[in-house]
Amino acid sequence: MISIASAQQEVLNHVSHLDPASIPLLQGLGKVAFHTVHAPWDMPMTSNSAMDGYAMAYRDGQSEWSVIDFIPAGTCRTNSVAPGEAVKIMTGAPIPPGCDTVIPFEQISREQDLIRPLHAIKTGANIRHKGEDLRTGDPVVRAGTLLRPQEIGLLTAIGLTEVAVYRTPRIAVLATGDELLEPGSTPYPGKIINSNSNSLAAQLLEAGCEPQLIGVAADTRESTRAKISAGVQADALLISGGASTGDRDYVKETILELGGQLHFCKVNMKPGKPVAFATLAGTPVFILPGNPVAAMVCFEMFVRPALLTMQGCATIMRPSIKAVLTAATSNRGDRPHLISVRVTRDSGIYTASSINSQSSANLTALTAGNGLLMVEPHATLPSDSLVEVTLLDRSLEMGDFCYAAL
Ligand code: AMP
Ligand code: MG
Repeated sequence: MISIASAQQEVLNHVSHLDPASIPLLQGLGKVAFHTVHAPWDMPMTSNSAMDGYAMAYRDGQSEWSVIDFIPAGTCRTNSVAPGEAVKIMTGAPIPPGCDTVIPFEQISREQDLIRPLHAIKTGANIRHKGEDLRTGDPVVRAGTLLRPQEIGLLTAIGLTEVAVYRTPRIAVLATGDELLEPGSTPYPGKIINSNSNSLAAQLLEAGCEPQLIGVAADTRESTRAKISAGVQADALLISGGASTGDRDYVKETILELGGQLHFCKVNMKPGKPVAFATLAGTPVFILPGNPVAAMVCFEMFVRPALLTMQGCATIMRPSIKAVLTAATSNRGDRPHLISVRVTRDSGIYTASSINSQSSANLTALTAGNGLLMVEPHATLPSDSLVEVTLLDRSLEMGDFCYAAL
């Protein structure tokens, strides 16, 4: 049995980033840039007005200018403007030759074609200068940058319609067990609905991957073998269940028979002790516990960092925050316990409350929470102590969530 940290490292030793692919710019949102992209021209391309107003050659002490032209957005005046003359100009329109300053409408009084500034202004005011944002050749987005809406906007502004990113991992999801029914079925004694495939697929989507649900392997050698052989065609394979030492748990032995290598078989943690990791035909294979909570927690701890590595992300671990514990929380067992907690924020202070039921079979332990708190074996974290909680989702930034099971 190895530690969580060693298991995480072992996984990362066997994954690397995927190849790049050029995709339509908007689809690049949330992906990582493969190349550094350089500005093909100065941004802005010409000096232009920062305000709706009047452009002129400004001289301190001069009290009036005569308006000789109007330059709306989308047009460009190439003829010079003489001293004493001004042009009405709209935001973004190029500053014509001869002008050095823009006075906004609200700082001007106008009578017919004569304008007078209401007060003095600095020469050069309200002009956005050619190249002030980016010079030709400047890096616009560096390799390894996460593409957010602002990067999508900037890449569009420099004329791109496609961007090279680390391609989206296609991850096969396999459930195992004769007790499983299709989603939408009505369960009956002995049978349960396969929920793991969908919870894992949802975690994959959230991690920027394309899930491929390849169904359920029956608890037979033949079925397990056929499904695993199909699943390793993907960039990685997630298997839930069949990892323990039950009479019909064939997953690990099948991987070995197919020529795979098991890198670890048990991790010193709760939930999730039976989690295992293998490679088969060069494909990482995560063997996650069947218990729904354990499967999802093991995804968080071992699968997600691997998926983010495949996508070229620099930061692969979830953010953590310091929170005040609302009640003493103990771990009486001899394995580190990842406890589901509910984090709230009030007046800038985070508080964390552990969820009453922590059973790895009951998904409400996770629906009631939004974070994980690690408690060491035989330890008690006192009430009001400051603890570090890993946030699992965006519920805090997106408003509260329903926690009916608390
Ligand atoms: P196993 O690891 O196959 O022994 O499964 C452990 C527990 O997880 C059993 O109670 C299973 O019924 C449950 N389980 C296994 N696979 C799934 C699944 N796909 N969806 C929901 N529960 C599952
Ligand atoms: Mg099973």
